[in-house]
Amino acid sequence: MPVTGAGSPRLEIRNLSRAYEGVRVVDGVSLSIQPGQVTCLLGPSGCGKSTTLRMIAGVEMQDEGEILVDGELICDTVFRVPPERRRIGLMFQDFALFPHLSVAENVAFGLSGGKAEKRARVEELLHRVGLARFIDAYPHALSGGEQQRVALARALAPRPRIMLMDEPFSGLDNRLRDGIRDETLALLKQEDAAVLLVTHEPEEAMRMADEIALMRDGRIVQQGAPYNIYNAPADKAAVAFFSDINVIRGVVRGALTDTPFGQFLAPGVPDGQAVEIVFRPQHVGIDFDRGGRGPEPTETRGVAARGVVERARFMGSESLVEFRMDHDGSVIRATVPNVFLPEPGRPLWLTVRRDRCFVFPG
Ligand code: ADP
Ligand code: MG
Repeated sequence: MPVTGAGSPRLEIRNLSRAYEGVRVVDGVSLSIQPGQVTCLLGPSGCGKSTTLRMIAGVEMQDEGEILVDGELICDTVFRVPPERRRIGLMFQDFALFPHLSVAENVAFGLSGGKAEKRARVEELLHRVGLARFIDAYPHALSGGEQQRVALARALAPRPRIMLMDEPFSGLDNRLRDGIRDETLALLKQEDAAVLLVTHEPEEAMRMADEIALMRDGRIVQQGAPYNIYNAPADKAAVAFFSDINVIRGVVRGALTDTPFGQFLAPGVPDGQAVEIVFRPQHVGIDFDRGGRGPEPTETRGVAARGVVERARFMGSESLVEFRMDHDGSVIRATVPNVFLPEPGRPLWLTVRRDRCFVFPG
């Protein structure tokens, strides 16, 4: 047995790069993942997520970089542990079960050991995914969601140290998906594997992840807890990846920017630098017009700026209201919980929550 490095992460990748036809699709990616944790590799289509996963699985070679499991090198550019000896479980969107094998045989597929021992592990896992009654059924008799759970049981059966999952839920219909995500998460936590889950959906990452690694153009832009990624984003694109955004522009004077919404702090930004102040529609406050007078300025909401309602739409759990701003004719979007559908043409005052604004160089 290899010696486990004390305190080392279950999976560590250092400076992983891969180019196709001279284009670096994975560009110096470093990540570390602890056992029992789910890390979501989140990013738009084509940013290099699957390529990263394939290198970790060992089905693709990196041009540069190292991969370590429990502190032990499993792959660099010269040395390479073959995929089947990495104790890495894989689950992909097209998770095909073997159609000619029963559910039990599918789950037992990667298991070694005696017959009774294998049977016990198969029964345990099928019980845990709630499919014990299908043990002797064949895949075609199962629904898509049930097949998915069998595939998960199959991947977890050999007790992988690491589970790599590439958009595993994207083939499922919406109604099933939330339930299966939650069940999957519960099972993964019990197994204590380190999980790297690839997705392009921010909601999925927020729902599943202990940590999110935000990827763009082959690089990790930011890694952290979902709360931190959402509330302390690295740049404008990181804000925009999770929600609609509003942007106002300003120029810095004495670490402050003057805007129609009052002054914003721009600590450490040199004088004369153009900045963008970025905020989400749910952090816009709406106040009533009192004969052309806005609400008094406050520390948390600053100064109010007046806009005229262009349109308002009911979205189910919230309403989305679009304003044309008096000061420059720009559009600001606000979301309000429940129903708020003011008439187009109505003037209202808008404020912006200071602790939910992000100031980036423009
Ligand atoms: P993601 O999973 O984030 O959608 P991929 O890792 O699949 O992205 O792909 C990243 C980029 O690399 C894409 O532009 C894709 O077209 C390209 N790519 C992936 N695999 C190959 C390959 N085998 N040959 C050439 N280009 C590839
Ligand atoms: Mg992919």
